[in-house]
Amino acid sequence: MSAKEDCIFCKIIAGEIPSFKLYEDDATLAFMDINPASDGHALVIPKEHTKDVHAVSEQAIANTVITAKKIASAVEKTVAPGGINLVQCNGEAAGQSVFHFHMHVLPRRDGDQLKMNWGLKPGDMDAIGTLAEKIKGNL
Ligand code: AMP
Ligand code: ZN
Repeated sequence: MSAKEDCIFCKIIAGEIPSFKLYEDDATLAFMDINPASDGHALVIPKEHTKDVHAVSEQAIANTVITAKKIASAVEKTVAPGGINLVQCNGEAAGQSVFHFHMHVLPRRDGDQLKMNWGLKPGDMDAIGTLAEKIKGNL
């Protein structure tokens, strides 16, 4: 489905690189962010490759938001954060680093001081995998 050869998220969709997959349907895929800004940080992508909010189709963005709602509920049950941001970045100045449209499901805590451009710091893969299993159990 319209994959772009050099796109890391298209490779995740194709199963060419590994991911901690949470949920998949015909139009979307959800998986754990491997540089989590907080415990339970997940990503939701449309399977159709487009780079940003300007390019994504109305159907693809709608499907992505519907899946993000599902994932947000499971993340809420799993890590019981103080809150959750659904964040979506367009362009480098806005902090976009992967140019395949995506939505962050980002658990927040009181006083976590998280900045909009939070930076990428590799997480503990065992801990991310364990959380992924727990979130899937709450879907
Ligand atoms: P953005 O900065 O909004 O473009 O977000 C891209 C996100 O993708 C970042 O939070 C990265 O940590 C995340 N990311 C990049 N590569 C991978 C990967 N292979 N698996 C999971 N998350 C990734
Ligand atoms: Zn892509």
